[in-house]
Amino acid sequence: MDKKHAKQIKRDKKKKKEKDQAQETQQRLKKQMGMFDRLPQACSACKKGFPKTREAHMAWQVTVRTEEQLVRLFCPDCQEKAKELVEGKNVS
Ligand SMILES: [Zn+2]
Repeated sequence: MDKKHAKQIKRDKKKKKEKDQAQETQQRLKKQMGMFDRLPQACSACKKGFPKTREAHMAWQVTVRTEEQLVRLFCPDCQEKAKELVEGKNVS
């Protein structure tokens, strides 16, 4: 085996590694997208429907518990209530 050939093999190995990594990233993304598919259609607290608007996407809060594959969605009102609750707890 000449030097050139060895280099070629080395390069091919590197390419394969890169490909594997790309596939891994793809898999991970797919998994995350799968989690996104689990996005509830309504607020997890008050069951208010989630309007599929850009504003709603900005204002509503999504919480993901990866280990339980649980996705919860909270409308701005419930986020306020939760905040008040936490603040109230801190006062008393
Ligand atoms: Zn709500």
